[in-house]
Amino acid sequence: MPLLMKSSPTIPLKRPVSEAIYARSCQLIPKGVNSPVRAFPGLDQTPLVVESGYLDRIVDEDGHSYIDYCCSWGALLHGHAHPLVVEAAQRRCAMGSSFGITTEIEATHAAKVVSLMPAIEKIRFVSSGTEATMTALRLARGFTGRDKIVKFSGNYHGHSDALLVQAGSGAAHLSDSAGVPADFVKHTLVLPFNDVEATRQALRENEVACVIVEPIAANMGVVAASQEFIEMLREETKSQGALLIFDEVITGFRVALGGAEEIYDVRPDLVCLGKIVGGGFPAAAFGGRAEVMNCIAPLGPVYQAGTLSGNPVAMEAGYQTLRIAERNGFYADLEEKTDVITKPLRNLIKKKGIAACVNQVGSLFTLFLGQTSVKNFEEAKRCTGFNELFHFMFQRGVYISPSQYEANFVSSAHSLDNLEKTRDLYLEFFDR
Ligand code: PLP
Repeated sequence: MPLLMKSSPTIPLKRPVSEAIYARSCQLIPKGVNSPVRAFPGLDQTPLVVESGYLDRIVDEDGHSYIDYCCSWGALLHGHAHPLVVEAAQRRCAMGSSFGITTEIEATHAAKVVSLMPAIEKIRFVSSGTEATMTALRLARGFTGRDKIVKFSGNYHGHSDALLVQAGSGAAHLSDSAGVPADFVKHTLVLPFNDVEATRQALRENEVACVIVEPIAANMGVVAASQEFIEMLREETKSQGALLIFDEVITGFRVALGGAEEIYDVRPDLVCLGKIVGGGFPAAAFGGRAEVMNCIAPLGPVYQAGTLSGNPVAMEAGYQTLRIAERNGFYADLEEKTDVITKPLRNLIKKKGIAACVNQVGSLFTLFLGQTSVKNFEEAKRCTGFNELFHFMFQRGVYISPSQYEANFVSSAHSLDNLEKTRDLYLEFFDR
């Protein structure tokens, strides 16, 4: 067991060591971070500087311990430093951390993913979700011979040019990114999420290569697509000769072993995976129908490559992570844990008539403040009051994802005691 048991914060939280480290980082790294949301945009607060994590807790550089609901943005299905994952990664590391040559664990992990996700007949591993979605688009364009693509507002698919339009997650805090030439996005149609009629019409009027969607959006907070919306996407893309791509970088192995495709019982042509598939190490993947996947180089003409793709340490960590998730009742338990927080919170919101709502799918949840229902990006953007909630929880030792546009993630490592502490704080926040 690592050296973790440091104190929970006392209020007001003092973090001189973290502040000094962050100030130094800011001199060397833009805004001190290597990914924008880590800078706590709009939160008027020095970002966390973490020293270590174990199971459901992280410890900052000042020794304060927090219950973690960000869990590396959903990558840690079993929390921090799960002993089985650590042992497997250490064993692999000692055998050599990277070869740029085929290893057996790539085939073993590929077989595991293919066995769990019906839409995936063949898979290729890459290093980030951005790479997975960027390549899936290229593949769809190469396969269909068409240029146009459809994405939905508030969905985030990483930061490749074609997809960085009306994007969720960190990009939701900006208008569209500078540095993306208009010519690069002129083939990207952005449509309102969950709008069945507008989308049906656009798909009939445009010859598109593909539709890419987060079936359960988790980058404008958690907003699930309706069953009708997903079924319409499947029918229309099929009849128009376009491919349907599910971006399951967050939902894959998070909402069910078979991901969102299992929940909706709809098979896309391609699936993008990330986060959990690498067990907390840098790995991601895209996969789907063999006929489509066979167009990837060197078998076919669509190019894609990566020095660290299929990295053996990440493959081993991802594989062991999935083996734990395969245990009987795993996903029911995870949802039950999440309900410890969300059910009483919903009850209080209803009882007191508070303008707020909790969206949840399994172990993913977002408390939206100021809106009684959120079904799309427009409604998510109308929320107010997140800053106050974040501060209240953070000062008391609970780290929720640091933006209204992000999801919270419960892991199998979250203890009942810590879930109940979190629940009590949420209730106290509304009862002050
Ligand atoms: N797709 C979705 C749904 C995501 O949530 C993310 C990242 O959060 C990505 C793609 C991009 O993945 P990465 O950050 O690994 O590039």
